[in-house]
Amino acid sequence: MKIGILKEDQDRRVSLTPDTLAKNAQLVAQYLLEKDAGQSAGYADAAYGDTVSVHDRATILREADLIVSIHPPNEADLAQIKPQTVLVSLFQPYFDQEVSDRLRQRTLRAFSLDMIPRTTLAQAMDVLSSMASVSGYQAVLMAANHLPRYFPMMITAAGSIRPAKVLVLGAGVAGLQAIATAKRLGAMVEAFDVRKAAKEEVESLGAKFVEVAGARDDAGAGGYAVDQSEEFLQRQQQEVQNRATKSDVIIATAQIRGRKAPILVRKESIAQMKPGSVIVDLAASTGGNCELTEDQKIIERHGVTIIGNSNLAETMPQDASSLFSNNLMNFLRLLIVEGELQLDLDNEIIAGSYITP
Ligand code: NAD
Repeated sequence: MKIGILKEDQDRRVSLTPDTLAKNAQLVAQYLLEKDAGQSAGYADAAYGDTVSVHDRATILREADLIVSIHPPNEADLAQIKPQTVLVSLFQPYFDQEVSDRLRQRTLRAFSLDMIPRTTLAQAMDVLSSMASVSGYQAVLMAANHLPRYFPMMITAAGSIRPAKVLVLGAGVAGLQAIATAKRLGAMVEAFDVRKAAKEEVESLGAKFVEVAGARDDAGAGGYAVDQSEEFLQRQQQEVQNRATKSDVIIATAQIRGRKAPILVRKESIAQMKPGSVIVDLAASTGGNCELTEDQKIIERHGVTIIGNSNLAETMPQDASSLFSNNLMNFLRLLIVEGELQLDLDNEIIAGSYITP
């Protein structure tokens, strides 16, 4: 089996790293690496040693039996891939609803890593969690860099500084990592979520959980949050506003799978924040939790810096690639047995992520 590793476009990460390949020689595969695929993550072609052969993109698209990438190949790429080739990537079918049809029309077979069920068994393959964790960490560091104030409490001969107050909206994987990082930097942290399970997790990290009564928490949603009523959201927005005015930093991570992100920070709330405060909105690509967020932009409104970025994992490409690569390899080991593709649709991880049945 020939496995092609594509170079990402507009992203410094790479989907498979030299370490992962070296540790998994038993997979019985021949790796075709696109030239410079890992270069910007710090993995030069030479670091892959003789575990790979290096080629141009066209050769990989034409010759590989299975192609891996973080972002899906584009339409021009797809046109060059031979029928029946297996693609493993983040196709995001919840947002690109025609993607399965487009791939099927080209008789390609595809597995979408974001569709792997969020179960204990699949934890080692969960790229959403590992990338969200990097994003949560980076969001806090970015906020600290933009904030014209300290995070920790400082008692100095020149006077005392109060610790920064950080408000985290959404305590999923990214939110929890943001809480842990902000705490490590010495900030006072409070967090909101609509899932009951989040309360204990937030408190175990030493942050305060802010509860807004009456949230819909659906046990059948696979651990994901569900849409809330308009009335609940209004009460929540009010509660966020009460706290935002006292906060120095807001890290916004609230998402609802396959939907537009809920607006939790209204523009009136931003106008009342302290000058110099920072909002990092990780939900930017699905509309943002903050009414004024502009995706992929850093803007200033009412003296508040608003950073809209849902792809912060890319800003720490070396470790992010390493984690992604380990997750991906764990998935490939399920899919490939003795050098052959094994499409066991009784396996819930394979069936859940197979988007072109
Ligand atoms: P996500 O990115 O979909 O959403 C981020 C957070 O936003 C979630 O915690 C969600 O509850 C919250 N949210 C949504 N609407 C909100 C609102 N109006 N106000 C405040 N918060 C709101 O979530 P995620 O980080 O991908 O995690 C999804 C779920 O999967 C979580 O329950 C997580 O614990 C679970 N999970 C399980 C495993 C596992 O068992 N292997 C691994 C990872 C994640």
